[in-house]
Amino acid sequence: MSSANDGGEDARPSRGFGERLKTEPPYRAMRRPTLTFLGGVHEIGGNKILVEDGPDRVLFDFGPSFSPRWEEYYVNFLQPRSTSPAKDLLEFGLVPRIEGLYSREALGDADLAWKPPEVHAIFISHAHADHAGHLNLVDPSIPVYVGEGTRELLRAIDSSTAMKYGDHDWRTFADRAPIRVGRIEVVPFPVDHSVPFAYGFLIRTSEGTIVYTGDFRHHGPRASDSHEFFRAAESEHPAGLLIEGTRAGPDTRRNLTENGVRSEVDRLLGRHPGLALACTYPRDVDRLTTLHAAAQAAGRKLVVSARTAYLLASIAGKWTSGKLPLPGTPDGVEVYQRKKKRYWEYEKPYLDTGLSATEVRSHGERYLLALDLSHFPELIDLRPPRGTPFIHSMSEPFSEDDVDDKVMHNWLDHFGLEFHQMHASGHASEGELFEIIRSIRPRRVYPIHTEHPEAFRAIGPSAHPPELGVPYPVTPGSPTPRD
Ligand SMILES: [Zn+2]
Repeated sequence: MSSANDGGEDARPSRGFGERLKTEPPYRAMRRPTLTFLGGVHEIGGNKILVEDGPDRVLFDFGPSFSPRWEEYYVNFLQPRSTSPAKDLLEFGLVPRIEGLYSREALGDADLAWKPPEVHAIFISHAHADHAGHLNLVDPSIPVYVGEGTRELLRAIDSSTAMKYGDHDWRTFADRAPIRVGRIEVVPFPVDHSVPFAYGFLIRTSEGTIVYTGDFRHHGPRASDSHEFFRAAESEHPAGLLIEGTRAGPDTRRNLTENGVRSEVDRLLGRHPGLALACTYPRDVDRLTTLHAAAQAAGRKLVVSARTAYLLASIAGKWTSGKLPLPGTPDGVEVYQRKKKRYWEYEKPYLDTGLSATEVRSHGERYLLALDLSHFPELIDLRPPRGTPFIHSMSEPFSEDDVDDKVMHNWLDHFGLEFHQMHASGHASEGELFEIIRSIRPRRVYPIHTEHPEAFRAIGPSAHPPELGVPYPVTPGSPTPRD
């Protein structure tokens, strides 16, 4: 499932849908407000949360589960048919069986027949694949709400990668401006995460407020946004808190702050006068900005792929977190020009000014080159001197038998590159999560987007690791006492 991994940080396998989900009674039978987890349960990613209040049904995020069950049926050479992707996923219970959600085209002649939409809106928290990657299955008449910046990001991803979101009734929301869908009111709050324009939501139902964090951190450049969201969440006295727990449980991986990454890159560039290489997540604009600033301070240029340049240019109009290093500007990024038989439309604006492998090889000291892993064959032309530093500015692998990681190291070993791990996660640590829960004091805490929901038992009786496909009532009442 290569496209689904595209940009979804920290996506790793876990349990997928249980067969039981297929036999659940129709969700719409529930009258009082409920929330049902259709993904993101005992897994990192795959968030799909259905909130129902009377006749109104709103879905929060709709991303594929990176589940081992998926890989039991679909692997890189064997994928759902583009003529009936929903049918092919429903066959194995890899997407939830919900009526009035999927498009006629995606269903084909699946045994779940097409029905006019019975889901009234979908809110997408951010542009990572594990939250937005199944939008292509959805009926095009269901309104899809995204932040204004996310809309631009999705547009750029759609036109420059294999990821396709499909046609939708797109609606953009403004920061903290409430949107009403029947009885349900949604207030989107910007949060700090490793992709820009990420949101958490206050979801007000007729029986109380649910807080959905999306994915977040508060050690990046938009930490104050996350804090403002938590303060607003606290003053709602929420009935439920749906909190991501990517880093809950055992986590031995080294984590820096964004500023910490900057200092380590500064030091490294100070020690190595020649070419330096780096690798980041393609949508981690904060990291690109950090690397660009470090390169500039060392008298170098950050060189990125045409795809990254296109993405930066696409979001420029919505970017408000400082100066974006744009291609084609005097103090912006340079573009690396790969040799290709055919160039995509989005690559064409950069063809005349792109830097060749020869230029980068002969003047390595001028550049910090950010390569995607898929662009590693360029190393064969670049011939970096042995000992050239390679900054791995992404998550460490989740398992020791991670194939991509092994292949990457084979390439690094072959060229004698010096590996440096320097990363700031897009997610809060377990301690930070517990602190947030203690300050918000929700009646119930539903840990999602985590492989270790049980770790949240440590916060006390408010912890409710959810089960897949079970409708939970939104129960009003006094918040948990402060301890
Ligand atoms: Zn996620």
